[in-house]
Amino acid sequence: MKRNDIIKTSIAILNELVGFDTTSRESNLAIIEHIRSYLDNLGIESRLTHDSTGTKANLWATIGPNSIGGVVLSGHLDVVPVDGQQWSHDPFDMRQSDGKLFGRGVVDMKGFIAVCLAMAPQMLKQDLQLPIHFAFSYDEEIGCVGVHGLLKDVVDNLPLPRAVIVGEPTSMKIIGGHKGSRSFRTTVKGVPAHSSDPRLGVNSIMAAARIVTFLESLQSELSDNADPNSPFDPPYTTIDLGIINGGTANNIIPEFTAIEWGYRLVPQDNADDIQKRVIDFIDQEVTPPLKAQSINASVSTEITNNMIALIPDDQSPAEQLIRHITGLNNSGVVSFGTEAGAFQHSGIPAVVFGPGSIKQAHQPDEFIEITQLEECIDFVGKLLNWAQQENPDAIFGSD
Ligand SMILES: [Zn+2]
Repeated sequence: MKRNDIIKTSIAILNELVGFDTTSRESNLAIIEHIRSYLDNLGIESRLTHDSTGTKANLWATIGPNSIGGVVLSGHLDVVPVDGQQWSHDPFDMRQSDGKLFGRGVVDMKGFIAVCLAMAPQMLKQDLQLPIHFAFSYDEEIGCVGVHGLLKDVVDNLPLPRAVIVGEPTSMKIIGGHKGSRSFRTTVKGVPAHSSDPRLGVNSIMAAARIVTFLESLQSELSDNADPNSPFDPPYTTIDLGIINGGTANNIIPEFTAIEWGYRLVPQDNADDIQKRVIDFIDQEVTPPLKAQSINASVSTEITNNMIALIPDDQSPAEQLIRHITGLNNSGVVSFGTEAGAFQHSGIPAVVFGPGSIKQAHQPDEFIEITQLEECIDFVGKLLNWAQQENPDAIFGSD
């Protein structure tokens, strides 16, 4: 296919993909079926892994030899909500103007997926010496939830790929590391009573405030321990405390207070250790005095999101591959999380590298520049040329 035709096909496929409302709260089976039947028509088999409700699925497909190694092109199919955003048109009806494509998910990250799909016929035609895999997931936007099922399937049942390229928008620059994050909801249950006699109740807001103060002191401790050589900005683990909800009236001792908190980790900090610090504080300093006031008072914490950090490794096959293909020789780190950390954690070296700018992600009138899609098409073309060389793995040295 000619370059111009591939560009046109990519835009047409992107137009179709944007038309599916894949906001994370919705089922994604319609878009999965759409992609599956497209691949089916090309003679490419897909493999699905579902969530526990059966309403969402990941898709895995392999083109080329069914051997160990090869490269994964990975993207998530879900998008963030448009609720409360001012769009100048229907977000699920893609528009084109001024060399840009507008619509929910065009940059984050259906544009990358459209390019992968548009290049699939080309991949079939070339004599690939190693496999190219597609990994399209659900529920990335709510904390990289969906990809774990796909990864388990790959690790348990399939030959392990050599590297994964997660096509999140990096303006086609190499991102070799990102922070991880973990989020929690802690609910304090007190005992309601008229506020004229505090002895009769247990005040959940006051108890929650002690947890908040502890989080604040933990933040200063973490920033005091910053690594001056860290590539991250800020160079330390940061505490999130985004929501506090409690109480009903000024003359009622509040029964329930919930706080939503968490942290964004630099790779050298341990997510479990920080979690333990906070939970220990709650168990040792907050819960016992509450229980002493009333046996009905309690504090409970649930984990709401767990995103694994991508640890920078400039010797990883994933980085070597992109350097080899693009000629780029530096890689950066970012503070937003991606599925790359989960791939790396499963033993598949990963980089983040994709078209469009993260600045447009999650925004009203989200857009991607067509030139970015073109750059991505050229990149995948070069990737295929590499993959059909004799012994493409030679670039990785003798590991
Ligand atoms: Zn994304």
